Amino acid sequence: MRQKQVSEMKMLSVPLVRAERGEGAVLAMIRFLCLLVIALHACADFASAQESQEEKLLTRIKQPPTYVRNENYEQKWFDTVKAGIDKARDYLGNYGPVQVYIIGQQSDELEDPKIGQAIVEAFCRRRHLNSRDRITDCLKGSGASLIERARDGSTEAYLSYVDYTDPPFAELVFINPHGFPFPYLYTRGIHEYTHVFQRAFPRTPTWMTEGGAEFLAFYLGGRNKWVDFDQSMNQSMRMVQSVGDDAMMKDFEDVEKLEKEQPELKKYYRHLAYDAGVWAVAFAIHRSKSRSVKAYTKRFYPMVGRLGWQQALSRYANVRDTSEFYQRFQQFLDQPIGVQMKMLEELKP
Ligand SMILES: [Zn+2]
Repeated sequence: MRQKQVSEMKMLSVPLVRAERGEGAVLAMIRFLCLLVIALHACADFASAQESQEEKLLTRIKQPPTYVRNENYEQKWFDTVKAGIDKARDYLGNYGPVQVYIIGQQSDELEDPKIGQAIVEAFCRRRHLNSRDRITDCLKGSGASLIERARDGSTEAYLSYVDYTDPPFAELVFINPHGFPFPYLYTRGIHEYTHVFQRAFPRTPTWMTEGGAEFLAFYLGGRNKWVDFDQSMNQSMRMVQSVGDDAMMKDFEDVEKLEKEQPELKKYYRHLAYDAGVWAVAFAIHRSKSRSVKAYTKRFYPMVGRLGWQQALSRYANVRDTSEFYQRFQQFLDQPIGVQMKMLEELKP
């Protein structure tokens, strides 16, 4: 458990989505600020929360994700990431477009500048297609930064949503994935790909986005014997219980707002967005009519598209409104662990 927590905390975040529009000094400044933030998704969410109401969404498509990587980096890491992504695609369907980057250095793989340059060029061309000026900025800015971070030994996994292209696309970036504790690298692939799926629907609160991605990572990871579902959920519950009364999951609906209004709660991001989030998603599934995990992806998400997350959650989890949901969930968190684990047994495929 300890290990898992450390690996999440090692990840850094770069708000690539918005900043790409004016690369250079502004980007460098934003990146610097974001590097100060410990949790992975905070900045990505911060950046994307600034998007306008009319979100451009991903769609269900035929084309599978495309991969760019340095091929002199051990094949095993590519295979592991891809295995996780593919299991999630099998379960959720193929959404996109998705461009995956796997960049790693265990000894001196990136020493030859040509190796890194090939990745950076592919990255910038994909983002900026025919805009030569922007490609030039990208090569020096966000593109070069990928290789720098890999050389510096940073371990990262994140989705960055590029919405200024038509159609928009998702980048899944894995830097030095060998740095993740091994079985969790499979589930990182599932987690990140779940974010791709979520991007085909309107925005949901941060705890639901992260909690849903964690839930499928544990659930599909468990089905594939990469992790133990019950054990992973149990660990998450212990993280939630360690927070006490200082903060609640509800505070993590909108991380951008939280950062401005209650920055002192930021330290609970992992505990409440991920660990309480994963339990809240399980709790909602358990309250749904069918108790089916599959229906959570097949029925609940399309409902979010039609009704927005609040109404969709109320209808799906059979509550009056979101405050009743939070209230009932809080009561559930006060139950003994035996009762909580028993709820998981009652979930259906
Ligand atoms: Zn995430």
